[in-house]
Amino acid sequence: MKEFSGKTVIITGASGGIGSALAQKFGDAGANLVLWDVIKPDSVAMNLHVEGKIVSDRVDITKSAEIEQALERVKNETGRVDVLVNNAGITRDALILRMKEEDWDRVIEVNLKGAFLCSKIIVHTMCSQKFGKIVNIASIIGEIGNIGQVNYAASKAGMIAMTKTFAKEFARYGITVNAVAPGFIQTPMTEKIPEKIKNMMIERIPLGKFGTPQDVAELVFFLASERASYITGQVFRVDGGLVM
Ligand code: NAP
Repeated sequence: MKEFSGKTVIITGASGGIGSALAQKFGDAGANLVLWDVIKPDSVAMNLHVEGKIVSDRVDITKSAEIEQALERVKNETGRVDVLVNNAGITRDALILRMKEEDWDRVIEVNLKGAFLCSKIIVHTMCSQKFGKIVNIASIIGEIGNIGQVNYAASKAGMIAMTKTFAKEFARYGITVNAVAPGFIQTPMTEKIPEKIKNMMIERIPLGKFGTPQDVAELVFFLASERASYITGQVFRVDGGLVM
């Protein structure tokens, strides 16, 4: 019997760098995997060789009707939801004076409202089970801000505040809610950063390199496990020591 055998784990943004590492990690531990993404969740599913079931759906997390419909499918297939990882996220970077209103709106809509909608809809199922674990993928940028990322920083700061509020409201139902704040991780999201800026960042990271999606997945996995049952409302950094 593996640690997550019989448990169902929903991962949003499952086709991305961190999302696919999470799918692999929970899949290796025997979980039933629910992979949601706007595009191509099937391709991630096809590359996984796991014992549990895999339910993959195209779900835009900014649309409650799509989340509700996909959740019904999950309940039919696996009967429960144990873990939700709110991982989907985007960037639309620009300096404040040049930032378009639509780029502000879209980043807040995906990163903050999307995580809120998934949590609000799925927490009902967790309440009736009197068990559930929500892990939100925030960012150190939500704590320290960043030039060119006012929308992203605000969305992730909002996510941290949301984590604490969900933790307070749902603790009585046996649900824990925590946030992981990665620093700079090698994924398609950070591939867009110009080489010169990447090298400048690496110089500032005490461990001297970007992290891997697996580094993030390890911490998420722990927070979603029974071993973290007395931890809620917290924010944990995975950033090579960049913020301390
Ligand atoms: P990624 O590779 O770009 O993955 C994000 C995934 O989310 C993509 O597959 C993306 O699809 C999907 N997505 C976008 N909008 C969505 C929506 N409306 N509904 C459902 N899925 C949607 O990025 P990542 O680096 O793995 O990031 C994962 C999370 O970690 C994000 O929340 C990010 O903010 C956070 N994070 C990353 C880093 C880092 O250094 N990489 C650092 C701190 C925090 P498309 O590709 O089609 O947009």
